[in-house]
Amino acid sequence: MIAQLNSACPHQMAQPGLGMPALGGNFALDRLGVAAPPSALLQQSMQTGQVLLQMMTMLLGLMAAGGASGGSSGGGGSVGSVSGGGGGGVSSSGGGGGGGTSATGKGGNVDPSSVKDKTGTSGLNASSKRGLEEAHKWGLPLVSGKRSGGGTSDHDHGNAIDVGTLPIGAASSNGGTQQMKEFAEHMRQEGKAGRLNVKYIIRDGQIASSRDNWAWRPYIYPGKTQAQLDALKRSNPGEYNRIQHFDHVHVSFN
Ligand SMILES: [Zn+2]
Repeated sequence: MIAQLNSACPHQMAQPGLGMPALGGNFALDRLGVAAPPSALLQQSMQTGQVLLQMMTMLLGLMAAGGASGGSSGGGGSVGSVSGGGGGGVSSSGGGGGGGTSATGKGGNVDPSSVKDKTGTSGLNASSKRGLEEAHKWGLPLVSGKRSGGGTSDHDHGNAIDVGTLPIGAASSNGGTQQMKEFAEHMRQEGKAGRLNVKYIIRDGQIASSRDNWAWRPYIYPGKTQAQLDALKRSNPGEYNRIQHFDHVHVSFN
């Protein structure tokens, strides 16, 4: 039994799999061009100039061994780093194109423009919209934004976003994904640095804000006691996951 509580942080049910971005790694693999061996050319050369070919091969063996090994290692390295590039084969400095796996130190491996928000973004203030752009870098769509509540939640004023990819209110959604954890940590760092107008972040039963100098501390849903939360976890784990933010990341903005 899943009770839809009229709480300060209600959510629409998320549809699993909806809008899931394609993994950039697949793009990279698809786009990796493997240079075909010039077998046809080789055969022709064997027929028309075998001696010349042998001489060339010897020269290549003497002069280009270093280049060959370099090309090989470059090709291997490109599996993890090339996000674009064409059929040349061994270029290790791709870039651009295709939403590949470029490691920038920020964001995940998805094309932010491919992330489809599950609710409308109208009513979000500028800081919330800016924060949502950050979430998209980790492949995290909006699951709840502006709401018309009684004014008790930052959501009611467009000052908060809920993002994530897990089913909301499900017993199985008992902890954020790696991307959700990384995004939450990123926003905590941004808040601590005084950027992006971050007010506080909640995820996985913890909250961080300027209080305690942005250290993660236990989060207890407003109006609940720990004993009540413990009882809820037993009687309705999906609801417990929702209100304690194990199934989504909440960010409020100033
Ligand atoms: Zn929220």
